[in-house]
Amino acid sequence: MKYYSTNRTVPMASLHEAVVKGLAGDKGLFMPERIKPLPKEFFDTIHTMSFQEIAYHVADAFFGEDIPAADLKNIVYDTLSFDCPVARVTDDIYSLELFHGPTLAFKDVGARFMARLLQYFIRQEDAQNVNVLVATSGDTGSAVANGFLGVDGIHVYVLYPKGKVSKIQECQFTTLGRNITAVEVDGVFDDCQSMVKNAFMDEELNNHMKLTSANSINVARFLPQAFYYFNAYARMKALGKADNLVVCVPSGNFGNITSALFGRRMGLPIKRFIAANNANDVFYNYLQTGEYHPMASLQTIANAMDVGDPSNFARIIDLYGNNHKEIISHISGATYKDEEIRKAMKECYAANGYVLDPHGACGYQALTEQLQPGETGVFCETAHPAKFKDTVEAAIGAEIAIPERLAAFMKGEKQSVEMPNDFSAFKQYLMSK
Ligand SMILES: *Cc1c(COP(=O)(O)O)cnc(C)c1O
Repeated sequence: MKYYSTNRTVPMASLHEAVVKGLAGDKGLFMPERIKPLPKEFFDTIHTMSFQEIAYHVADAFFGEDIPAADLKNIVYDTLSFDCPVARVTDDIYSLELFHGPTLAFKDVGARFMARLLQYFIRQEDAQNVNVLVATSGDTGSAVANGFLGVDGIHVYVLYPKGKVSKIQECQFTTLGRNITAVEVDGVFDDCQSMVKNAFMDEELNNHMKLTSANSINVARFLPQAFYYFNAYARMKALGKADNLVVCVPSGNFGNITSALFGRRMGLPIKRFIAANNANDVFYNYLQTGEYHPMASLQTIANAMDVGDPSNFARIIDLYGNNHKEIISHISGATYKDEEIRKAMKECYAANGYVLDPHGACGYQALTEQLQPGETGVFCETAHPAKFKDTVEAAIGAEIAIPERLAAFMKGEKQSVEMPNDFSAFKQYLMSK
């Protein structure tokens, strides 16, 4: 399978190139040249299959031409060492719980898959060690670091702004050791990001070591997210509730919902989608007006969705051939201010006893407002509420327990490399490796 750029001004890339490069040479996003529909028999029997079996079928449609079946199966099964179950919240509303992985958020799925795919390519090439650089404002660093933890042949450098990430977030990538190095930059997130960008452009550094990025727009992080939408359908079908399914995705960079749209293109019977936003309403406004006006992002309590210019917008436009009418026939929008998010968490807990995190709360709320009679809604609970303990407890007026695996991170010892906000210092550090 070849991958083209959404800007279409550079030649198509192989899977290997697309994964290592992340972004196409013309700054476009990679798209698979074909989206293969899965056969009717697959959907007829899907409810009898395990999550891993389902995921392997989906993975085969994208990656089967490039990776032998046995290897791909290993990658998929090893990635999905945890479940993505649906939980009943009300008679009509179910939560697709994507927080059962190592860092308690859905990004674990894509990060773990990418780590294993990269390792497969490195082994095949007998290449030198690969170094993954990632800048994080909190959550991406932990998913990527944990996704790559213990993966032979790969070293990860996580750059994060000193004192600007929460304690819980920080311990998820600073306590790991082994092939993970946390670099604590005396600056803000943008400084970390520009140090990473400079590193990719520095010829001397690239001659010294093989560098790659694990950005969320990477096809190896993006496409595997389709797995759990097929699983959601299967589990809802087993309950006899899959006929008029509405899937609601709390969205920031729109990678998660775009992978669901790919799933639908493969034949997954989802009736329609809702993209739930916090106060960052660029996509919501696009749905209403057909015009796209990126803005600076606003800070909210659902901070993983604080995005003012969602990068995967280009993929949605490409997928639909820029047909606004068709896009709005498949996707509706919603946007919530912090006060409304708090209210949704409070009401859902009071009425159903279900604890939402601030991101999932946007998804739940949109379904309560937009679900039509006869439809069943599934929203993505994209992170465990304990990751946002203080915000959630204040909203619901009750204490929530911290899961064992999150508490385990908090017991670990912090290890980081202090770095001034200066690219030449960072370069010198990497040159010594
Ligand atoms: C990243 C993230 C989102 C947003 O997902 P996108 O793919 O960027 O739209 C939502 N919730 C949580 C908890 C996240 O970490």
